[in-house]
Amino acid sequence: MMTKPDGLEQCPDCGAWLPPASEGAIHRYIGASPACWAIFSALVNAGEPPLAPHPLIALLPDAYAAQHPGVPSAQAVQSVAVHLLTLYGVLECNVAPEQTLWIRQRAVRGAAIERHVRFVWLTPPDFAGSPTVADITAKELPAARTEQAIHYIEAVWNLWAQRHQPTIAAWYQRYVIDTP
Ligand SMILES: [Zn+2]
Repeated sequence: MMTKPDGLEQCPDCGAWLPPASEGAIHRYIGASPACWAIFSALVNAGEPPLAPHPLIALLPDAYAAQHPGVPSAQAVQSVAVHLLTLYGVLECNVAPEQTLWIRQRAVRGAAIERHVRFVWLTPPDFAGSPTVADITAKELPAARTEQAIHYIEAVWNLWAQRHQPTIAAWYQRYVIDTP
């Protein structure tokens, strides 16, 4: 771990060093630092700074959640699994990015009790040195930000895939593709 630069706080999940957020809003089961979450929130929810349109931008929330898995809980297990299944479906199985709702709905359909034993916690990859959302917003132009966003999405997925693609592929086949 590098020496902490003056005044900056490190996001525990993606490792980004950022000035502390003025407001301490955090997500309930995503593990990001408040400053990292604020950047993601502005980018995705408020469109600030703007991105150039691209179909894969729809995966930004999935990549962010997958890079910020937090700590194991039933809710985090399901959340991370659904985001990974969405990334897998689009990036590896050619599902259209605008059809990811189908993956999400398939992945969590059925009774709540059964859902809670469907997925398990996967040990997250090491995201040290991987791109962060701050790298996206650091670009000056919308087209460059979108290019960086797609690089970010693919980098996050590739790190997960190196460790867990067989498991994610098996979940996808069983819970998204196969009809019960
Ligand atoms: Zn982060």
